[in-house]
Amino acid sequence: MRWGLIGASTIAGEHMIGALRAAGQDVAAVVSTSAARAEEFARMNGIPGAETRLETVLDDPSIPAVYISSTNEKHHDQALAAIAAGKHVLCEKPLAMTVAEAEEMVRAADGAGRVFATNHHLRCSGSHRAIRDLIRAGRIGRVLSLRLFHAVHLPPHLQGWRIDNPEAGGGVIPDITVHDADVARFLLDETPVSVVAQLGTSGMGQGVEDSAMSVWAMPSGAMVLSHESFTHPFAGSGLEAHGTEGSIFASGVMTQAPVGEITLVTAAGREAVPYSAHDLYLQSVQDFLAAVAGLGQPAATGKDGIASLTVALAVREAARTGQRQTVRVAA
Ligand code: NDP
Repeated sequence: MRWGLIGASTIAGEHMIGALRAAGQDVAAVVSTSAARAEEFARMNGIPGAETRLETVLDDPSIPAVYISSTNEKHHDQALAAIAAGKHVLCEKPLAMTVAEAEEMVRAADGAGRVFATNHHLRCSGSHRAIRDLIRAGRIGRVLSLRLFHAVHLPPHLQGWRIDNPEAGGGVIPDITVHDADVARFLLDETPVSVVAQLGTSGMGQGVEDSAMSVWAMPSGAMVLSHESFTHPFAGSGLEAHGTEGSIFASGVMTQAPVGEITLVTAAGREAVPYSAHDLYLQSVQDFLAAVAGLGQPAATGKDGIASLTVALAVREAARTGQRQTVRVAA
């Protein structure tokens, strides 16, 4: 398919253009609010079209799909316009600034019969898929707890709006907690029912939180401990899943690259867990293309994007109020 990119973004340049091309896709045009940025981005990435008017791409019948990676406050209007124009949409997380907006996007896509996906890359990684397979196969027994370690150091070129612009959707909650909510749902096949939380500003955030710690209760009784930050240069990332019959220790796996080590520990001893080292973003694109072809669902659907946003915003509200928040995700 021919694709339009909405947003001359870092994630498009660093990962998604390569993933689209590796999947045999044709990146036809980029849309930016700035003509100079559109032209420079198109030139740097070998894209024929550089536009400032979204309609130019949306009115082009030779472009059936768009990838939205603008700042977060723009996703909603751009997605609705793309769906109204009959495009399939692969949208970056968080889907929108509010759950109501995200629900409106997914309803519109369902009504129009278009594929709508959320670009939650971690569930596309071989490591996370291997961990989910172990859990589903009962290798750790009944899951008691999941600990998510996702405190990183935001590199200077990604700081910008993330650290000082709440109107654009800055802050660690929409940036990283939303991913962790998706990881927990993906690994455990259930959605938190309540959360408690504290936020911090530890040196980077200006008017937005740069650190979050929260605890989530799952319907099964499992507990999830989740830590996100922009300010931890040496913490490393990872996750641990603990059950009645075993534990899974995965270090370095909360990343954009197919890296990290997974160890399963049971009464039988310790074993290294192999996994597929495929590109996470290519997998996301391939799953999206399969859905467009009528062969199943994208890796993360619009409903998954609603759920991850609901959990993340509940974490922010729990911290703001100091009260446990009930999480209700529309069916
Ligand atoms: P960027 O800041 O690189 O790009 C976002 C927007 O900022 C662009 O659409 C562009 O606007 C504008 N912009 C880009 N460069 C400049 C500049 N030099 N000066 C002024 N404006 C600029 O953001 P990211 O690529 O980091 O994130 C984009 C989206 O992707 C977000 O929603 C984020 O949450 C998501 N994301 C997802 C990841 C994942 O793994 N799933 C990883 C990283 C980000 P314009 O539209 O006008 O071109």
